[in-house]
Amino acid sequence: MIQTIHQNVKPLSDKTIILANPRGFCAGVDRAIAIVRRALDKYGAPIYVRHEVVHNKYVVDNLKKRGAIFIEDVNDVPEGSILVYSAHGVPLSVRETAETRNLNLIFDATCPLVSKVHVEIKSLHKKGYTIIMVGHKGHPEVEGTMGQVDGNIYLIENILDIEKLPISPDIPKIAVVTQTTLSVDETREILNKLQTSFSNLRLPKNEDICYATQNRQDAVKALAKVCDAVLVIGSKNSSNSNRLKELAENLGVKSYLIDFADEIHQEWLTNVKNVGLTAGASAPEILVEGVINVLNKYGFNKIDTLNVVEEEMVFALPHELRENTPVIASR
Ligand code: SF4
Repeated sequence: MIQTIHQNVKPLSDKTIILANPRGFCAGVDRAIAIVRRALDKYGAPIYVRHEVVHNKYVVDNLKKRGAIFIEDVNDVPEGSILVYSAHGVPLSVRETAETRNLNLIFDATCPLVSKVHVEIKSLHKKGYTIIMVGHKGHPEVEGTMGQVDGNIYLIENILDIEKLPISPDIPKIAVVTQTTLSVDETREILNKLQTSFSNLRLPKNEDICYATQNRQDAVKALAKVCDAVLVIGSKNSSNSNRLKELAENLGVKSYLIDFADEIHQEWLTNVKNVGLTAGASAPEILVEGVINVLNKYGFNKIDTLNVVEEEMVFALPHELRENTPVIASR
């Protein structure tokens, strides 16, 4: 008998794992982790890191085992130590304090795409713009970005916040920037609403939401079309991982955010034929392998990959941490 598979009807195959591509580490996370690792290799432990270098429990626990010490307040870093700023960036006040601390070396692991927003916001502030930032309150990237300027900047988290802004609708110089890891679709709605609220609004020159966030969200959209459930590997404090889970849910697919494979509940997979698997930008591939092993035990023995886009972005390391560069300071 010839089986016809109609569009939008899921194939009657074995239980299948469908891997999203791209998934997992982005160029900014790769660079940030490499900075801490190479600093440990080159200068020895301890290396102090201001905030979790990336929001992933596995990565942070591994770096702790190798001698990284994560702190929130740079006043807690002993004099003569080496300090690394996390991928999320830091406010100017943190840099200023660190510079008074008589540290041996400071490495900046801020993602270059976050630094780009810092440059933009400082330039806007200098030109006299009132700035609106779209982002999540309390997220270190938002604190770092807003902390590049001294006042005249407002944070909004959603469309409802727009009405609460104490800014005149016809203010001549007004600009908006966004966190890099937001929901692409929600942010578009917020920016549209802002444009109707402020006639002179200046939008970002280039999208502030980064390529990795965009690509992982596009891949989840594609997964949601062909899967009955989606597993997202990522930590609870990872903004981009949470957005992936929400996106699949909003498209009507059961979705779960997990740090590790042992968090999978078998009942999540009841009546699931195709399970989608992706990972946030700070989750390493080894965790994907762990999840695949557990899914194999639950009868998902076939693996397909859904390719949405190939990524080639790579960010250079600080000069001192490139291989074959002599040690310029040691303790
Ligand atoms: S998610 Fe985007 S902004 Fe954040 S570290 Fe990765 S590339 Fe940079």
